[in-house]
Amino acid sequence: MDVLYHSTRSEGLAVTASEAILKGLSEDGGLFVPDHIPALDKSLKELSGLSYQETAYEVMKLFLTDFTKEELKDCIQKAYDEKFDTDEIAPLVEAEGAYYLELFHGPTIAFKDMALSILPHLLTASARKNHIQNDIVILTATSGDTGKAALAGFAGVEGTRIIVFYPKNGVSPIQEKQMVTQKGDNTLVVGIHGNFDDAQTGVKKIFGDKALAAEMEQKGFQFSSANSINIGRLVPQICYYVYAYAKLLKEGKIAEGEPINVAVPTGNFGNILAAFYAKNMGLPIGKLICASNENKVLYDFFSTGVYDRNREFVLTSSPSMDILISSNLERLIYRIAGSDAKKTKELMAALGGQGKYEITDDMKAQLSDFYGNFAGEEETALTIAKIYRDCGYVLDTHTAVAAAVYGKYKAETKDETKTVIASTASPFKFTRSVMNAIDPKYDAMDDFALADALSQIANVEVPKAIQEIRTAPVVHDKQCDVDQMQNVVREFLKL
Ligand SMILES: *Cc1c(COP(=O)(O)O)cnc(C)c1O
Repeated sequence: MDVLYHSTRSEGLAVTASEAILKGLSEDGGLFVPDHIPALDKSLKELSGLSYQETAYEVMKLFLTDFTKEELKDCIQKAYDEKFDTDEIAPLVEAEGAYYLELFHGPTIAFKDMALSILPHLLTASARKNHIQNDIVILTATSGDTGKAALAGFAGVEGTRIIVFYPKNGVSPIQEKQMVTQKGDNTLVVGIHGNFDDAQTGVKKIFGDKALAAEMEQKGFQFSSANSINIGRLVPQICYYVYAYAKLLKEGKIAEGEPINVAVPTGNFGNILAAFYAKNMGLPIGKLICASNENKVLYDFFSTGVYDRNREFVLTSSPSMDILISSNLERLIYRIAGSDAKKTKELMAALGGQGKYEITDDMKAQLSDFYGNFAGEEETALTIAKIYRDCGYVLDTHTAVAAAVYGKYKAETKDETKTVIASTASPFKFTRSVMNAIDPKYDAMDDFALADALSQIANVEVPKAIQEIRTAPVVHDKQCDVDQMQNVVREFLKL
């Protein structure tokens, strides 16, 4: 049966998967959700014999029903190739009583690569399907990580351009180096004289400029966005949960049908929502363990039913989870409201206005699949140190938050169900925090020396992503004032 996509904020509207991918966000501000969650149509046993790419096809074909087999296979082939440093794409590593699903073997050594390596291909295929001749221009403001992952995904993809604005003095030296060394004629990286909010506001302004849009249309361009609420990012994330289960089955770690738990270090709620969708497809998942850092809005939400962003924003050693508005939660809200768009819109309006909302008891009763908790900075560091000492495996700070929360869950519930922990970044991406957690003596070293030291103690090669930026030439040195951002876009597109 075909899957169509509805907005979480209004009734009626229904678009195909390719239209939803092209649009990103619905015009009413809502998120696109599938009208039903399709069931897996292969047995778990059959799935256990498949490669990552084959598994991805089996999952994605069920959601992206207006894509042909050839289109989907082509997208998958182009995404999950030698850009990843292992054929397995997402290996599973057993350590300290859990299975770590390593989602960081892509070009920027973090889990955003899992989706951003395929989104450009889904976008261009969607454009072709909908008879759009224009080149797609991706415009992104970044505080560091997403920018590079998007650049790596779109670089060299025909029919696309990507322009990334970052705060010139607001990203780490490594993050900046990663971006300004990005190859590809279709890429542009610009440091702006301002902070991340200035960059984001500038991008929104350019997006909303009707005159510019008309001029672009004339020259054969149109804007699109690569942000994490696009279903073209969500659907590819479901695949690795199916793959992980199938792998455990293949290796005899679980019996067919035996439930597993999944623990996910959470920020925007995209990754864990993908696990929830996998469960709803029929994958035997018990609890979805939602791990937060000190920005624990989600923990409070799961314990009280109140979502409240009015609180101090804490900077932690797991920056990709430093978030007070988890955008993808809206999809879960819609679901537990019984697909009630009016109710969802009302709650989101309250979030926009007062910065908080409270769900009904009926809605709260449907959250029993989830367990929420959080880990503070010290617990996170202790978890890295302990797991390293016990078994030599080194976690990054985000993954360590999930490992710490999983520990709390087990202690509280005595639930011994086998558990997969989503490992969202390589420890080489957050080397300083990781090495300091293991021994404060490392703090004296520079970043590259730290990477070498980590390589030695963890017995893992320094990833290519880090090796490369040591020597790669800077190819982007453009800077501009905030009010010049639009001119930079015009110049790059030769408008
Ligand atoms: C983005 C990110 C997360 C959070 O994932 P969400 O899908 O936003 O919940 C966790 N860890 C790392 C390393 C990330 O980059």
